[in-house]
Amino acid sequence: VPRVGPSPARPQVKPRGPAPPGADSRGRGRDSAPGLLALSAAVVLALGAALLNVRIPVLLGQLVNVVARGAQSRLAGYLRPPACFPQGLLTFGYIALLSRVGEQVAASMRKALFISLLRQDVAFYDANRTGQLVNRLTADVQEFKSSFKLIISQGLRSSTQAAGCILSLYLLSPKLTGLLLLVMPTLVGAGALVGSFLRSLSRRAQEQVAKATGVADEVLGNVRTVRAFAMEDQQAGLYCAEAEHSSQLSQRLGLGIAAFQGLSNLALNGIVLGTIFVGGSLMAGNELSPGDLMSFLVASQTVQRSMANISILFGQVVRGLSAGARVLEFMTLEPKVPLRGGASIPSHSLLGHVAFHRVSFSYPTRPGHPVLRDFSLSLPPGKTVAIVGPSGGGKSTVAALLERFYEPTQGSITLDGHDIASLDPSWLRGQVIGFISQDPVLFGTTIMENIRFGKPGASDEEVYAAARLANADGFIRSFPEGYGTVVGERGAALSGGQRQRIAIARALLKDPAVLVLDEATSALDAESERVVQAALERAARGRTVLVIAHRLSTVRGAHLIVRGREQRTGPALRRGALQGPSPRPSSPTRGPLGPSSRPPAPG
Ligand code: ADP
Repeated sequence: VPRVGPSPARPQVKPRGPAPPGADSRGRGRDSAPGLLALSAAVVLALGAALLNVRIPVLLGQLVNVVARGAQSRLAGYLRPPACFPQGLLTFGYIALLSRVGEQVAASMRKALFISLLRQDVAFYDANRTGQLVNRLTADVQEFKSSFKLIISQGLRSSTQAAGCILSLYLLSPKLTGLLLLVMPTLVGAGALVGSFLRSLSRRAQEQVAKATGVADEVLGNVRTVRAFAMEDQQAGLYCAEAEHSSQLSQRLGLGIAAFQGLSNLALNGIVLGTIFVGGSLMAGNELSPGDLMSFLVASQTVQRSMANISILFGQVVRGLSAGARVLEFMTLEPKVPLRGGASIPSHSLLGHVAFHRVSFSYPTRPGHPVLRDFSLSLPPGKTVAIVGPSGGGKSTVAALLERFYEPTQGSITLDGHDIASLDPSWLRGQVIGFISQDPVLFGTTIMENIRFGKPGASDEEVYAAARLANADGFIRSFPEGYGTVVGERGAALSGGQRQRIAIARALLKDPAVLVLDEATSALDAESERVVQAALERAARGRTVLVIAHRLSTVRGAHLIVRGREQRTGPALRRGALQGPSPRPSSPTRGPLGPSSRPPAPG
């Protein structure tokens, strides 16, 4: 990989405007007009179908009257197929349109949520479990979509039918209608009360499903650790307990729904019987024809069904709205550190001088627990600086702050004198800093694509060159499929050393000016460590390198070694807690630490 040597020229900062909106958001803008059109058409069709439904009880009553009078000849007139044909057509039309719009809405919600999740701060991921996030992406969007479709199809139909049929009822018999309207509100009120109880139960059941999913996600994702500790039974027990709790809640919900449905059916049948009883006496007094009674019965059934539908729908609407709100919450969440926007330094004038100025930091999830206090350190361009110290001392935190995964609570970090807070984070991460950790994650695709992750659009030649630099080309070519070898889940098919060298190639592909090696060799056996170490030393040439290690033996090649002390009280990495020399006198910058000799090589 060709490395442009640092130029002594004063770096010019190239300002970058905020990133243009993503292709997706533009796509959504384009889609929304036909979507709205289809939605309006669906609403009109659903309304038409509902209005035709309102006519059915009246038509039925007329039919009964015709049959009662024995006028068979006129029957054919009522049974003409065109009478039911439009209703079927309208129903087809609105359901087809609605599912189209619903799927489009769900897809664009999923896309927008996923894009928003990917933009969130690393701290957001400290506070939210992956399982719950995935749940929002799947279950919540699904719930919202179902409610959305139901509200328009069922909701619109039910309320139109209810209103239309009540009107029909009134026209048929004001007396009977009056009686019905006395009974109905009481029943609907009781139903709504039970409904609200069921809704809260449903919410709890849903939350429990998400919790169980979270446990499954974590255990399956870390199956090697579980296996290594022979914790299968214990973990299975953990999941089973959550699943059992979830099942209990859902069963209770099912029981509630069953009781609700049973009781409402009882009430509805009671109303039918009552109508026949009162209607019968009205018929005896010649106030009502048999056909009218038939119409009245069917229409009142339609009203009841519609009302029941509406009350069930009400629960669905609340569930759908709360699911939608959960999706929207993360869709509109603005990260503290945006992915893009800010200045960048042209590559020909980038020196790669990194400095921490009196940085204090505590993790947002643990605000009262300072990890760094007044930490200052200078990484001279092209030099290797190592931070060595016991684990938990805050070394990885230094690297995370440099990557701008978090913002310092106090102090600042500069690159060539520019506060990294003013620089474009995606430029900083994508082009300036190469990060290699102890346990690199490879994606379940080919080795070629895994390395190309470091620089999308890199040519095959560039990938080979990076792999050669990382001592990886040889073993990759020894595989039957070469660079086309698909890496198993989490890279399980490769040895630790091989994975690490692929990760190094991936980091080197972007030709970073600053390389961060966070315990890059500490998970390896001696032989792999030797090979990887050689690759790293080669990779370090001409770059500013920050090595993080807990053993001095792994940082022998460093120009400067900073040692953190044991963490007993308060943060280990802070001013005064560091031992070690400042950069060699030839270095262009001077750290905050007093000059002293190069530390002795550990023996
Ligand atoms: P080291 O790299 O020296 O082992 P770290 O920087 O990983 O140390 O951790 C320093 C301290 O910060 C530890 O007490 C650790 O528990 C805490 N810590 C690390 N990462 C997080 C995090 N994401 N959220 C909250 N605390 C964290």
